[in-house]
Amino acid sequence: MARVNPAEIARDTTRFMANIDLHSHTTCSDGELSPAELMARAVEKGVTTLAITDHDTVDAFHDLPEVPSILRLVPGIEFSTTWNTTGIHVLGLDIDPASRAITEGVAFQSGARERRAGEIGRRLEKQGIENAFEGASRYALGGQVGRPHFARHLVETGRVDSMEAAFKRYLGDGKAGDVRESWASLAQVVTWIRDAGGIAVLAHPLAYKLTRTKLKRLLNDFIDAGGEGMEVVSGQQNEQQTRSLGQLCREMGLLGSCGSDFHAPGQGWKELGAVAPLPERVVPVWERFRQSPG
Ligand code: MN
Ligand code: MN
Ligand code: MN
Repeated sequence: MARVNPAEIARDTTRFMANIDLHSHTTCSDGELSPAELMARAVEKGVTTLAITDHDTVDAFHDLPEVPSILRLVPGIEFSTTWNTTGIHVLGLDIDPASRAITEGVAFQSGARERRAGEIGRRLEKQGIENAFEGASRYALGGQVGRPHFARHLVETGRVDSMEAAFKRYLGDGKAGDVRESWASLAQVVTWIRDAGGIAVLAHPLAYKLTRTKLKRLLNDFIDAGGEGMEVVSGQQNEQQTRSLGQLCREMGLLGSCGSDFHAPGQGWKELGAVAPLPERVVPVWERFRQSPG
């Protein structure tokens, strides 16, 4: 039997559990754990470098609880935008969350959400649902009002008997309350990220269900706008998909990123750190961080 070198085994296990996870959410957006709980879980899972990338907000970095000494925290954000008619997510990594550019970006995106919520409210009123916006606001607990809050209002006022029915009749595709967000453009979000000293990374490229040709077109537009990286490894991705994205990443001359897109415990493969390492010859995005973790 061939002798096994223990160092070899140790190196091999890191192939399944990365210690760098650059995509995660907290209660500041739609995650289930507070920033402190998330960081504690990262340490527990052996993650040594973690980026918190909440949707269109950097609240986690305001009043940030103490960062465990063995964890390197990378300030990040996940901006929503559209490319043609497709909803796209762009990560800003290694940003300065207190910068003017990020402050402006967050305010714009929050305004976009508010305008949308107001419009949904007006449309539902036209359907005879009184005080729809005020009703929905009560369930947002001071946060952003979204479709689930309208759905809850419809259920609580007896309009429909389930959240599902609320979407089916009032809020889902093609219904009165189906209002598109007016997010900032792709070029705009990339500019905010760059102006904040960060690196713009296209999040979960396979989530948009684009053909390879269209995905390349998106990446070309993204690069023209100043985008520099793409997520090569994302939660819920098989090995072959990762290899193929690695190839695309090299082809396009982009930096590669990896992140679980963790939202809550118990969501299977989307566990903190549960991401494969970057394929060979993909240049890791963190080599460009102001303070390289590696
Ligand atoms: Mn989310
Ligand atoms: Mn996303
Ligand atoms: Mn995400």
